[in-house]
Amino acid sequence: VLNIWNYDFLFKIVLIGNAGVGKTCLVRRFTQGLFPPGQGATIGVDFMIKTVEINGEKVKLQIWDTAGQERFRSITQSYYRSANALILTYDITCEESFRCLPEWLREIEQYASNKVITVLVGNKIDLADKREVSQQRAAEFSEAQDMYYLETSAKESDNVEKLFLDLACRLISEA
Ligand code: GDP
Ligand code: MG
Repeated sequence: VLNIWNYDFLFKIVLIGNAGVGKTCLVRRFTQGLFPPGQGATIGVDFMIKTVEINGEKVKLQIWDTAGQERFRSITQSYYRSANALILTYDITCEESFRCLPEWLREIEQYASNKVITVLVGNKIDLADKREVSQQRAAEFSEAQDMYYLETSAKESDNVEKLFLDLACRLISEA
């Protein structure tokens, strides 16, 4: 059968979390293999596309990054609309970014689909000597909120591929 769409699955993945935690770097690392993302961390487009193959199925990932709106708390409902998955990111070296997570969860509750899959991501593990949020604390929080949890480094490319591929697998299995 000719598949004119050239993919078997299409998922919308949305990154949220405080400014500066590394959302844009994670997206750039995954979609372009680059770090740092270059002049001005802000991506000028709404989303990036990357197609991956999982068990012989072509999975198109539409990955939405904010263009800095999170700084002004002005992320709107349209950003969350029809998201299949959310990557809720904090910075392991920034306690404040972790303490803001409940606020982000309230937004998710308010705007996202109740079927959305949320992954909690602690980024910047290459800066282990500056860690302010322990793995245990994050693991407990994610468990209580029924979220998957993973630590990454966009800089060193640690777990970035795994983050998106695991998420794609979960999305397929729940599709
Ligand atoms: P955003 O505001 O969440 O999109 O964050 P950015 O992706 O713009 O990153 C904010 C800052 O953190 C930039 O200076 C990045 O170079 C830095 N950064 C992002 N990810 C990492 C990481 O994994 N390790 C380190 N050491 N720095 C990172
Ligand atoms: Mg950004």
